[in-house]
Amino acid sequence: MTHKIEHYIDGKTFAGKTSNYAPVYNPATGKQSAKVALASDIEVGSAVAAAKTAFPAWSETSPLSRARVMFRFKDLVEQNREKLQMMITAEHGKVLSDAAGEVTRGLEVIEFACGIPHLLKGEHSKNVGTGVDSWSEMQPLGVVAGITPFNFPVMVPMWMFPVAIACGNTFILKPSEKDPSPALLIAELFKLAGLPDGVFNVINGDKMAVDALLSHKDVQAISFVGSTPIAQYIYATASEHGKRVQALGGAKNHLMIMPDADLDQAVDALMGAAYGSAGERCMAISVAVCVGDQVADNLIGKLMPRIQNLKIMPGTEDKAEMGPLVTNQHLAKVTSYVNKGVEEGASLIVDGRDHVVAGHEDGFFLGGCLFDNVTKDMSIYKDEIFGPVLSVVRVQDFNAGCELINNHEYGNGTTIFTRDGDSARQFTHSIQAGMVGVNVPIPVPMAFHSFGGWKRSLFGPLHVHGPDGVRFYTRMKTMTSRWPTGIRTGSEFSITTMK
Ligand code: NAD
Repeated sequence: MTHKIEHYIDGKTFAGKTSNYAPVYNPATGKQSAKVALASDIEVGSAVAAAKTAFPAWSETSPLSRARVMFRFKDLVEQNREKLQMMITAEHGKVLSDAAGEVTRGLEVIEFACGIPHLLKGEHSKNVGTGVDSWSEMQPLGVVAGITPFNFPVMVPMWMFPVAIACGNTFILKPSEKDPSPALLIAELFKLAGLPDGVFNVINGDKMAVDALLSHKDVQAISFVGSTPIAQYIYATASEHGKRVQALGGAKNHLMIMPDADLDQAVDALMGAAYGSAGERCMAISVAVCVGDQVADNLIGKLMPRIQNLKIMPGTEDKAEMGPLVTNQHLAKVTSYVNKGVEEGASLIVDGRDHVVAGHEDGFFLGGCLFDNVTKDMSIYKDEIFGPVLSVVRVQDFNAGCELINNHEYGNGTTIFTRDGDSARQFTHSIQAGMVGVNVPIPVPMAFHSFGGWKRSLFGPLHVHGPDGVRFYTRMKTMTSRWPTGIRTGSEFSITTMK
């Protein structure tokens, strides 16, 4: 019998009433490993009701006590990291070292959330008028929900719920239906950490569950991470229902290589950033912008053998450098982009389409692909492919490279490789992207800064985690008070009479 993955509501596994399930696959074998329940508005209603009931007591729990639960949760995640990593690789396919990196980045946000008493301190002004004081405090919103993509089933939810819960909110997570298992282990670890029932809930499902969350009157805010068309839909629909929304979308991240760059360093960076996690990262580099033909020729000469020799195999194997894609449909989509690139006239330097992994012929594997002579009107340049496909675009100079990057519809992250401080400074100042690197492959901010893109990579004003995360999950209240004078009893005391 196929293993069933259900929901987690009010501190326990919740089977729900629907008979709708979606298959979950092991991408390395291509075989179905489980089936996941798809919630209707009935299950979503139960989760929201549990979260709403839990809110008054949790929001009144002191920030210090909430932080202590978070410290215990952090310890439990550390103790269970191998289990989490195995779960990620089994359903997503990424290699175990990538899965380990993902858990580490998630843990860093939990560590940030452990500092919540400091983060919620607020502001105070004394004597804004005669005998009048004014202060601001940040109060939690209520029930908030997170809807997350398949590519980081642990890290992306952890961008959201540690901060939301530490701020005093109660949370409903709707993970991707492609790799839903880690969310349920996280829920169990929270229970062991002493989090009260109903504060963290998991609803599995697809569009139906999402729509029920977007329109539910008791959900105050929605955090979303996923593709741009869905992010735009989430932003518009949840806003229409009066909710606070942050919706992070897709990306096409460029890495610009100047003629003075350390080329070997740039090649190492591209191997990790373009082919790591099979390119299924929102911060993956999918375009190498080469300034001058010589840079492009030299880069391709060095990249080609490295891509051809990538160790592509199931992510659980020690030697694996790249695993399979997440599903057969996604493999078909990425492959169709490679076909399209050839039709559009780009030069396919390394073709991974026929890559076969012996013993895993039904796995969703694709070899690394490299295109040269890609131009800005081609769909392989314009669209997010989300696979192990790197495009080389040749430009004449620095300004042409910046113009190319600035004109792209996405603006998640970008990076420059150069030894020239002036180029680096000008790049970081004027480039139109939310996260910018200099001589680093993937400029992902640490948990105590905020993560988010520009342009069509983010809908809504606030980024995730860091200071913006605290702003998103709280609302400011500002008090102004005057106390009547002349009613004090007991011995008189005045600061002006102190000797
Ligand atoms: P997706 O947009 O298909 O799905 C994301 C979530 O939305 C899932 O939980 C899914 O169940 C739900 N969903 C899907 N279709 C829906 C619909 N029609 N209506 C309502 N909800 C729907 O994204 P994905 O394929 O899971 O993830 C890959 C995408 O996520 C890529 O575009 C990637 O760039 C993006 N991403 C962005 C960031 C970022 O920080 N900007 C981070 C990670 C991933």
